[in-house]
Amino acid sequence: MSNEEKILTAVIYSAAEPSKEQKARFGQFLKNKYGSDIPLQWEMSDAFPGGFRLEVGSDIYDWSVGGRFRQLRDTLVKVPTSNGNIIPLLKESIQAWTPEAMAEQVGEVITVGDGIATVAGLPQATFGEILLFADGVRGMVQDIRRDNIGCVLFSSDESVTQGSSVKRTGKTAGTPVGENFLGRVVDSLGSPVDGLGDITASGYMPVEAQAPPIIDRQPVDTPLETGIFSIDSMFPIGRGQRELIIGDRQTGKTAIAIDAIINQKGKNCICIYVAIGQKTSSVVQIQQTLKKHGALDYSIIVTASASDPAPLQYIAPYAGCAMGEYFMRQGKDVLIVYDDLSKHAVAYRALSLLLDRSPGREAYPGDVFYLHSRLLERAARLSDEIGGGSMTALPIVETQAGDVSAYIPTNIISITDGQIFLESDLFFSGQRPAVNVGLSVSRVGGDAQTKAMKKASGTLRIDLAQYREMEVFTQFASDLDDQTRSQLEYGQGLMRMLRQKQYKPKSQHEQVITLVMALAHTMQGIPADDVPAFIERFIEMVESDHRELCDRIDQTGKLDDDLKQEIIDISAAFRQKWQ
Ligand code: ATP
Ligand code: MG
Repeated sequence: MSNEEKILTAVIYSAAEPSKEQKARFGQFLKNKYGSDIPLQWEMSDAFPGGFRLEVGSDIYDWSVGGRFRQLRDTLVKVPTSNGNIIPLLKESIQAWTPEAMAEQVGEVITVGDGIATVAGLPQATFGEILLFADGVRGMVQDIRRDNIGCVLFSSDESVTQGSSVKRTGKTAGTPVGENFLGRVVDSLGSPVDGLGDITASGYMPVEAQAPPIIDRQPVDTPLETGIFSIDSMFPIGRGQRELIIGDRQTGKTAIAIDAIINQKGKNCICIYVAIGQKTSSVVQIQQTLKKHGALDYSIIVTASASDPAPLQYIAPYAGCAMGEYFMRQGKDVLIVYDDLSKHAVAYRALSLLLDRSPGREAYPGDVFYLHSRLLERAARLSDEIGGGSMTALPIVETQAGDVSAYIPTNIISITDGQIFLESDLFFSGQRPAVNVGLSVSRVGGDAQTKAMKKASGTLRIDLAQYREMEVFTQFASDLDDQTRSQLEYGQGLMRMLRQKQYKPKSQHEQVITLVMALAHTMQGIPADDVPAFIERFIEMVESDHRELCDRIDQTGKLDDDLKQEIIDISAAFRQKWQ
């Protein structure tokens, strides 16, 4: 800021010149407020009948009739409307209201375009603060420069023009939160977009918040079952974990996240699905899918679609995270899906380039790592002293031609506790979910599995790794010796076993019993194409004839040696009768 601008001057606008006495009182007021003598000028203006307006630097004291009405209106807006009769409350607020001389800081738009406004005259505005433009357009300060600030706009910039005024609000971006958001579709600012009417919020949370510190956390040790066989058995996810779902386009990434949400039914876990830069039609489809499977009641969908301005796409995941934190702080379990962070990074790149930040690798700004690290660090398992709530994050990233070593994928891989890698080749060969067993990992591992699952899944990963190495030989099957051929068959059977249709989550006992049966080589000799039917019949039989066995696994989460042997015996007997 230059020296001249630092000297404050005060200007009074009113219809008639203030008397000497009045001027003296203004002088005193200014001295009290700003701590020094400030030169005072008067300018005639008919715009403020029955009052005046005092401008000191960028502070404005509006003491006109209109200004006082505005103050009264702002007071009345705050009257709670949730309980039926509000007339007495309104009366009380009006009686208690006294007009105040409050400063409003007002700046001026210098340039506007592409959803970005440059504003001068608000030297005290802070990073992330919300500014109010003409016509109620809101924006967020994203760049603080020497003489002006860069602000991103949350809606169309049509009504914002050069020279129009901008007010500070003193608030950082936040979102309304609460139980009433469950079952709803909202935008990045928490406003409903599903046409089902207003949502009464229980609170207001900042969109950007500090991640819980180490002292407030405890280790991840409770499973969050996705109901997806290949994930729960080999790459288990624990409450509070961050597991990346990564793969090319159309490889079933969203399908895994949606299945995981559907599987939380009746498990006391609140789900939040954040759609970033997607088509509105896809979001509607997801809403309908969740509804059809009875999963919408415990879910919130936050959407910033491809047609929304980049700033809204940029804050959407943080807003979703804030909604989740509300529940986590109450000691509840939350599952949040960010679909997807590649589009999020692209929106942030667009915004940064428009703000004239220097582009770095792949034209992303230098802080793109921090963009995602500060988001994903907010997923946590809180300690029991502060409620023991958790937030599990499933970020999704889209790769180009399977390239996991690109900029954004490597960043996010290093932030998360593991990744589920989905492969196009597997997907198109019919192996769905197309989980690549070699490249996927869960760094929380067995801690996030029940004892039963851990014991049952035993050698599955190793067996599959061996199968993959031998797989190249499948084309010479007729020339192979018997042992190699039977090993190949065994591997093929396991791969078939891991195939799973969408919206068909598997319960814990189903997964455990299938694993014990399959890893005991029970399915040897059954043609690969018959494997799904065999497993289906087998599970049907166990569930009807040995119900207590299933219940025991579900309730205790344990699998002792006797129980394991019992399952093997049952399956051997069933295998004998099969054809
Ligand atoms: P995009 O890159 O477009 O976001 P995506 O990777 O999220 O795609 P999905 O939309 O989840 O992929 O799935 C792509 C298609 O594959 C969908 O039509 C979906 O119904 C189908 N699909 C996904 N998983 C399975 C499955 N396990 N069994 C059968 N079909 C599936
Ligand atoms: Mg998708």
